[in-house]
Amino acid sequence: MELIASASKTKEILNKYPFVFRKKYGQNFLIDSHVLNKIIEGAEIGREDFVLEIGPGIGSLTQVLSREAKKVVAVEIDSQLIPILEDVLKECDNLEIIHGDILKTDIKKIIEEKNNNQPIKVVANLPYYITTPIIMMLLENKLPVSSITVMIQKEVADRLIARPGTKDYGAITVAVNYYAVPYLVANVPRNCFIPRPNVDSAVIKLELRSEAAVEVKDEELFFKIVKAAFSQRRKKLMNNLISQEITDLSKDELALIFSQLAFDENIRGEMLSIEDFARLTNALKKE
Ligand code: SAM
Repeated sequence: MELIASASKTKEILNKYPFVFRKKYGQNFLIDSHVLNKIIEGAEIGREDFVLEIGPGIGSLTQVLSREAKKVVAVEIDSQLIPILEDVLKECDNLEIIHGDILKTDIKKIIEEKNNNQPIKVVANLPYYITTPIIMMLLENKLPVSSITVMIQKEVADRLIARPGTKDYGAITVAVNYYAVPYLVANVPRNCFIPRPNVDSAVIKLELRSEAAVEVKDEELFFKIVKAAFSQRRKKLMNNLISQEITDLSKDELALIFSQLAFDENIRGEMLSIEDFARLTNALKKE
């Protein structure tokens, strides 16, 4: 079957079926087969794999996933696209299309019922308006997922792979790295999509860790500290911890803990590595 991921085939499908782009759903369809190959290679999709695709659109990525994987379940929110997908991909007999919002879909149940609760791979060209909520939902729910390979805005990808002390390093960097190891698979220019988005993109792969990156006595406190540390980036960490009411300790008591951890009193949150955040959490939990 002819690849959907080309400008000509995409236009042909869009002319053949009734469809109007819905901006609110972040619809930018992939028209470049080289990028498609990079996604498949990056995700290391093989015959054994059960793949969950988020937002199949008109099926450019779905088509190749179905060709390479054992089974593909694709969740699409836009009702206009369901009959198009069912017709265009009717020959893909290992494909199941679900009409729904991925943030309201019971993914745990899908994995339990359709893959015997064995780890699955998530692959998607994500709708950019909800990139972070989707990634965090997949990570925080501790689902049996071995990897997440997704196209996202370049700017967000830069944040996920940032090093401490750089401008891109933030709460999302620490949160994602706590659960997974991120890799940059490819940079993707904006002309690889119809319609052309206003930003460049990148494919990243998150390989989920079997155990969190660091051991913390209180996970909730860890994430509160991380959030507070970046709440006002230019402020000192100590002031952010106090103003965000992370601790009841006085400034002097906090200063003592900082010195025990060998943190400078004036240090800003953006200088802390994930290990530093864990040490700080464990020190504050003890008090
Ligand atoms: N996979 C296709 C491709 O690569 O050409 C389409 C990618 S497009 C960037 C994002 C897709 O996600 C659209 O088809 C959009 O309708 C769908 N979508 C948006 N929000 C969604 C949600 N909450 N749940 C499921 N699908 C969603």
